[in-house]
Amino acid sequence: MKLNFNIIKINTIKNINQNSKYQNVSKPVLFSDMKNDVFEKSMINEVSFRGKRGCSEANFEVKDIKNLRCPICGQVMIDKNQMEAYACDIASKRGEDLKKALEFYEDERNLTYDWENGEKRSLYRPVIQEVVNCVKKSAVEHPNMDLAGLIELNGKPHMENLIGLQMVVVNELLKYGKENIEDEKELLRFKNILDEYKNRIYGIGEEDFKRKEFIHAVSNITSNEKVQEGIDEIVKKLPTSTNDANSFFVKYSKDKRTSKAIARQFFMRSIATTEHLHPKSKGGVNRTDNYICDCANCNEQKANVYFDDWQKTIPNIKEKLEQYLQDVQDAYDRGEISAAYANYTDEIVDTVDKLTMGKIKLKPPIKAYRVEPERNCEFVEAEEY
Ligand SMILES: [Zn+2]
Repeated sequence: MKLNFNIIKINTIKNINQNSKYQNVSKPVLFSDMKNDVFEKSMINEVSFRGKRGCSEANFEVKDIKNLRCPICGQVMIDKNQMEAYACDIASKRGEDLKKALEFYEDERNLTYDWENGEKRSLYRPVIQEVVNCVKKSAVEHPNMDLAGLIELNGKPHMENLIGLQMVVVNELLKYGKENIEDEKELLRFKNILDEYKNRIYGIGEEDFKRKEFIHAVSNITSNEKVQEGIDEIVKKLPTSTNDANSFFVKYSKDKRTSKAIARQFFMRSIATTEHLHPKSKGGVNRTDNYICDCANCNEQKANVYFDDWQKTIPNIKEKLEQYLQDVQDAYDRGEISAAYANYTDEIVDTVDKLTMGKIKLKPPIKAYRVEPERNCEFVEAEEY
């Protein structure tokens, strides 16, 4: 299979120099040519850095390193251009071809330049992998259907599974309410709300069941704060299209989106994002020493939890972070990120030490001689052709 995006083969220093993204910088460059170019981003960074560390989330250059592994889940991360290319590829195929295309992205070694000896790991996050498995099977059974058609076809059986999962939560709420809500009026009101939404789940009610509406409806049941907190915790377990495959099928079969829009959802969660180690909502600053790059999936799961609480839930976090820092350091040494990141990896070692109160002491990565990119770039007046 041929991919319509560039994978630069980087094996030796010689190759790196030849393929350096800065290589052509010294010849006249029109600003319009530089849109979406990596080197343009790094120039913006140099401008926007205030002092040594000031950096906006959007300009965090580590996000631009190709095929960096997520330090939380260990799976490969991609950028928006890759997502578009992969989504186009999948949307254009049917039957066996579609199955093969979907499988192609289950082995990240197909997408990278230096992991030939690495292990086989999927680009899809766990819930998406479940969706993909199901689509592959039905693509072979229905060779003339595109992705959108297959998702719609699978909507109904998944709807039944979803109803089951939603009812588990509603029943748990009812049980919890009966045991914990002391005020009779409050309990009655709670039961009525649950009944109404039960009907909606089964499609008997006049309106559709909507997760957000339901969460809102039960957010103010009792004046007993502790009991209300318990309700809020249980209701969070309701499946969503991002944490449950059934819900994904139901959502996208109802929405009637194009194959490409659905395929984008397959990769959306693998996109590299900026994570604040110390949450922004808790006073975390926009500085590179407070940033790591993780995938959209992990970023969403962390939300605004303190790093020290979060890290306890992640298996082998120390090893993964050390691997991440080494990968970033290697990219820095190859000249792929700007000189502003000279101390980045050391800063993260320090930040993690501080945020975990010394519980995680990361081994600093091995540094090599940095291949300085050519940077004698000058802006020239745009010429008319
Ligand atoms: Zn991740």
